[in-house]
Order: sequence, then structure tokens, then C-alpha cells
Amino acid sequence: MKRRDFLNLGAGFAALAALGDPGRARAANPLADRVKGARASCLVDLTLCIGCRQCEEACNRANHLPRPARSFRDPTVLRDHRRMDHAAFTVVNAYAGPPSAVQTNHPETFAKIQCMHCIDPACVSACIVGAFTVAEDGPVIYDASRCLGCRYCMVACPFGVPAYEYHKVLAPRVRKCEFCRGREGYAGARPACAEACPVEAILFGDRRALIELARKRIRRRPDRYLDHIYGEHEVGGTSWLYLSGRPWTELGFQALPQEAPPRLTESIQHGIFRYAAIPTAVYAGLAGLMWWTGRRNRKQPPKVEAPSCPDPGGK
Ligand code: SF4
Ligand code: SF4
Ligand code: SF4
Repeated sequence: MKRRDFLNLGAGFAALAALGDPGRARAANPLADRVKGARASCLVDLTLCIGCRQCEEACNRANHLPRPARSFRDPTVLRDHRRMDHAAFTVVNAYAGPPSAVQTNHPETFAKIQCMHCIDPACVSACIVGAFTVAEDGPVIYDASRCLGCRYCMVACPFGVPAYEYHKVLAPRVRKCEFCRGREGYAGARPACAEACPVEAILFGDRRALIELARKRIRRRPDRYLDHIYGEHEVGGTSWLYLSGRPWTELGFQALPQEAPPRLTESIQHGIFRYAAIPTAVYAGLAGLMWWTGRRNRKQPPKVEAPSCPDPGGK
């Protein structure tokens, strides 16, 4: 069987499973409720970021990623408006114009991006073999040993984060920030990027505490900050949160709905189930009838016809 046929077959089984039991998709993804205690999160204050790229370099080292062709000391790459890829789990981009109305001496605003570690992640919901999961304290992690390479997670992610090792012939993986889960010596500590930031533009802590802190900053400096914490509600909430003094869409952040994508896909699945249940039952009945008829025919002994050729010995 070809790999593509296998993947299509797998997707077909998954679709049938969802049709057969609409509650199963929901039960397989109770992620919003999974983290009971503190949720590991980061708050990035874009009005503080100086575009030094030390977070990028620290991430590169911590995850043993290949060194980039252009040095981390090269500030010109900031204007390329890069995206994450298999060799860079976080990137910093520069946008012309000051970070807020009161920082008029800053010609540019810098924005660090990475996986947002959604509370109800579309990548987890899309993965039919459970290669993406949510850790006890929130980070969305990946298990390459389970991955089929179908790349449905890449299509599902509303932030376009997961990248694929297209250059690898053998065992290519999906790659993205895992909140430094696999990092040596990791013990619920600050991720490498937050540790490296020289101006504390990235703060690590419990999500609720960080939201409180962000609100306090907005209240104290309404001239500096927008009254909007990006990630507090977008796509059901994310573990990476942002503060800015400029409209989000000017800095490469999309305006996204509050509803998590998995909730939307589930309602579609449920709708399909409701309207497809009768035709599915009819098809299943017909298939059963065909199987039963075929079985009965196979059971009947074949008729042996008398030889029509004359007996060579008879006269
Ligand atoms: S940003 Fe994308 S890859 Fe990261 S957790 Fe959310 S859906 Fe998954
Ligand atoms: S949390 Fe770790 S893996 Fe994620 S961007 Fe920061 S350094 Fe990279
Ligand atoms: S290390 Fe901090 S200041 Fe430097 S680019 Fe990253 S987030 Fe900005």
C-alpha cells in the first residue's frame, strides 16, 4: 500500500470514528480542563523588546538546532519578517514605527513569535494518532515516535506554527517550540528564551498571575499600552501572552476569534453526524446484506455437471 493511500485510509477511519461517536472527538480533547494547577506561561511586553535576538540564540542552543546562515548578531534579518521553521522555533521581527505613543525615540517595534501553546490546541485536535499532547502544566508537546507525517497539525494551527523537516528523507519530524520541555536540566524552570532576555521583555510564570500583572501595567500606563492582552481570549486563550502599544495587525498578529478551532470542527462533526446518520445506516445495512448474500452463496456446494463427452469405451 502506498504511503498516501495509507494516510487517506487513516483519515477515513478517523472520520468514520467521529461519525460513529460524536462524543468521542470531544472526549479525546478535554484540554481546556486538563491543567488544574498553575499553567506555565510567558508574557511578552513588546514595548520593552530591543530586538537583540538573544532569545533566538538561546532557543537555538537549548534545542540543538542548526546554526543559521546569518549570524544572530546580524540585525538586518529582523526586517525580513521571518516565520518559524524546522531550524528556528522562535524568531524576532522588526516593524517600522515606535512601540507606543510615548516611545517616540524608538524607530522600530520588535516582536518575538513562537508556538502560542494554545489552551485548546487545534494541532492536538487534528492529530489522529496523538503525536501532539498537552503536558500537565500546559505546554503542547510532540512525540515523533507516534507521528505519521500526515501534517494535518500544520493545516489546523491558526498561527501557522508547526514546521516539517522536508529535507529529511528518513523519519522527518514536525518541529516547533515545546516550551523547552526536552531541554537538559528542565524542571518547570523558565524557558531558555525568557532566561536569556536582557531586559525582561519575556516573563515566565502562572498564566493567571501574568494576566494580573499585564492588567496592572495597562491600568498604570494607558498611554503606553493597548487595553488588550493578546492571547488572553484569542482562539480560546493561549499560554503565551502579549502586551503592545500598537495595533496587533501592524505587528504581524492576526485578528482571531475567541472560539477555539477544535470547538468549531467539533460542531461541524456533530452536524455531519446528525445529517449523515440515516444515509450511513442505509449504506451499512446494504453492505451487511451484500456480505450475508455472498456468504450464503459461498456455503452452497457447487453443482457438478455430468460430463458431456461420450464414454470412449462404450459402443
Ligand atoms: S500555536 Fe499552533 S502549534 Fe502551537 S499549540 Fe496552538 S495550534 Fe498547536
Ligand atoms: S520556550 Fe524554549 S523552545 Fe520555546 S521559543 Fe523559548 S527557548 Fe525556544
Ligand atoms: S531577548 Fe528579549 S529583548 Fe532581545 S529580542 Fe528577545 S525578547 Fe526582545
